[in-house]
Amino acid sequence: MSTNNTKGAALITGASTGIGATYADRLAKRGYDLILVARDEARLNALADRLRAETGVKVEIIKADLTDKAALLKLEDRLATDTGIAALVNNAGVAGANDFVATDPDAFEKMIQLNVTAVTRLAAAAARNFIPRNKGAIVNLASVVGLAPELGMPVYGATKAFVTYLTQGLRVQFGDSAVRLQAVLPGATRTEIWERSGQDVNSLDPNMVMGVDDMVDAALAGFDQGELVTIPSLPDAADWDGALAAKAKLYPNLSRNEPAARLRKA
Ligand code: NAP
Repeated sequence: MSTNNTKGAALITGASTGIGATYADRLAKRGYDLILVARDEARLNALADRLRAETGVKVEIIKADLTDKAALLKLEDRLATDTGIAALVNNAGVAGANDFVATDPDAFEKMIQLNVTAVTRLAAAAARNFIPRNKGAIVNLASVVGLAPELGMPVYGATKAFVTYLTQGLRVQFGDSAVRLQAVLPGATRTEIWERSGQDVNSLDPNMVMGVDDMVDAALAGFDQGELVTIPSLPDAADWDGALAAKAKLYPNLSRNEPAARLRKA
């Protein structure tokens, strides 16, 4: 997609509804052209028509199932080579499959393909585009579930822990590059993901559930403030820094030349 505007285009996966569609609305209003990706072409078209009319930005839609290798490779190629793309919002994801014993392992595999493999390959394609030009932004949708195994969503949570770790690890590897990275860790957010994964969002304490508009606006505020990890509901960002500091206390002892005294043979 050629673009004349100064901001360039934002490529958003999972843009047909929910968090992705809300990012599309906000980024169009910020003046980005859009490349919207999902499987439901009719919904993508309806959103594209509305955003073109309301904002005047260029909107392209790409119908793609990101668990399909050929479709993923095609999108990767576009993302790696189109210098009109200025941002990737790596948002498409599925939840559910929480009962480890009862769930068909194929469902885990599909989830990992979308939540982990596609996210990684698309971030890598964007990096190949952005790093040599020292500009661009990669926003990855993780989840607070990835911080809390206690919530009992072992596979979904692990995919989301992966996304946060990936983002933090890329920040280290990208060093001083001006390429922006952000992991967004929403708590429960009112979207279709609940119904799609057989869960009832209304069964949760309403004080724990955020509206999707508030969630995305807060995530964008975190981006504007330069946060690497944004937890939209966390009142004090120092609490996150404190959690990182607590973890860092382990570092001197994580790899040593002898076992800990408590683990040595008597
Ligand atoms: P959602 O309302 O279910 O929307 C998911 C989007 O992903 C849809 O646009 C869907 O479109 C697309 N998608 C699903 N499978 C796909 C596939 N195989 N290929 C391409 N696109 C696919 O979910 P959401 O709540 O907006 O979630 C967005 C992200 O936020 C996810 O990564 C989720 O894990 C994360 N998150 C959500 C919550 C929450 O409570 N809502 C909390 C924490 C994190 P099509 O069906 O048209 O393909």
